[in-house]
Amino acid sequence: MSKSLQAIRGMNDILPEQTPLWRYFESKVSRLLDNYGYKQIRMPIVEFTELFKRSIGEVTDIVEKEMYTFEDRNGDSLTLRPEGTAACVRAVLEHGITGGGQVQKLWYIGPMFRHERPQKGRYRQFNQIGVEVFNLDGPDIDAELIVLTWRLWGELGIRDAVKLELNSLGTSEARARYRAALVEYLSSRLSELDEDSQRRLKSNPLRVLDTKNADTQAVLVDAPKLVDYLDEESRVHFEGLKARLDAAGIPYTINPKLVRGLDYYSKTVFEWVTDKLGSQGTVCAGGRYDGLVEQMGGKPTSGVGFAMGIERLILMLETLEQIPEEIARQVDVYLCAFGEAAELAALALSERVRDQLPNLRLQINAGAGSFKSQFKKADKSGALYALILGEDELAQQVVGVKPLRGQGEQQTIAWDALAEHLATCVVQG
Ligand code: ATP
Ligand code: MG
Repeated sequence: MSKSLQAIRGMNDILPEQTPLWRYFESKVSRLLDNYGYKQIRMPIVEFTELFKRSIGEVTDIVEKEMYTFEDRNGDSLTLRPEGTAACVRAVLEHGITGGGQVQKLWYIGPMFRHERPQKGRYRQFNQIGVEVFNLDGPDIDAELIVLTWRLWGELGIRDAVKLELNSLGTSEARARYRAALVEYLSSRLSELDEDSQRRLKSNPLRVLDTKNADTQAVLVDAPKLVDYLDEESRVHFEGLKARLDAAGIPYTINPKLVRGLDYYSKTVFEWVTDKLGSQGTVCAGGRYDGLVEQMGGKPTSGVGFAMGIERLILMLETLEQIPEEIARQVDVYLCAFGEAAELAALALSERVRDQLPNLRLQINAGAGSFKSQFKKADKSGALYALILGEDELAQQVVGVKPLRGQGEQQTIAWDALAEHLATCVVQG
């Protein structure tokens, strides 16, 4: 196929055989968020470039080298969103729904775009579910965000494969003091740092902490520690969070090098990581961003949130074989009809059955075909039962109910009794 007719590298189709698992995952998360009292918000996929520069930070990886930015026909610079927080903050400000201290507990789902090197678990268009909470500044809500993701991992059967890492970045003042100390220390050993870290020392020194370079890591061993610079307020907040996680029985490790890629975090930051996906091991990440709303022109408004990468979580479900049986089967019954008159009766009958059993997954044969070919399709559909409507059944106003998965003998059921019969023998999803 010519290149122009292929999908863009790093942007994937999700094929029909994969969508049941996606929908299972999405419905689990959306129901859980409903149950904890979070409301969905939907933002546009494209925003003014300026929004991301202002919120994410000019010297972050995302803004420096990962954004899909273009000029539209008006000459405006627009960007495909690389993450959701910026647009969510923009939306709550624009509509005034966090004004006067109004609490908002919000979530969103959808595609994000970053021009990164595509590999397993890292794509150029990928999907996130994000949660953002505004106007709650205590550690109780930080804990709730972690508790609800912990519950999700439990429901998905992947709890044993993920670990929680926590850190506190302190207030922006505390971080500024720490940054100065770190820069002083690293500058004194500048020649021992890798090139990337030397550059970051000027632009975004905290990012040096999560370098993958072994020489730089060795230099970092004796570097000043962020926790020694934490202000009292952040320390109390962090202790409050840890106490709540202990009370909820959620294990965690403190990772002093966890600084997160975006500029806007303060106090709590956390990541859920796994060793099941190779180097793309972070499945969910977030933190507190109390200064962001003000930085974007709003009144001081605390914020905290996280985003999870759906592709990575789907990969985990597949890797750990946590694919529930209920999604393996997409069809309950497959209705075969033979001859024009039987087809007409089958259509009317199937609509009556659907009226009575709205959750029944009933597939009606299309394209006619011989007994043999229709049975083959019924079997391939994965249905539990084939319903058979031929000339004889038509004359007697009955259908044959043929078990396809070894559940006993074929039965003959009157049209009027069909829905009731199916209700007893098909477990409805
Ligand atoms: P990473 O360190 O893996 O690049 P990040 O810190 O850039 O992640 P965030 O911006 O915090 O990621 O996004 C939250 C989550 O979205 C990540 O933890 C990950 O699960 C997912 N994610 C981020 N970038 C990608 C990508 N390019 N492809 C697939 N999933 C991604
Ligand atoms: Mg990244």
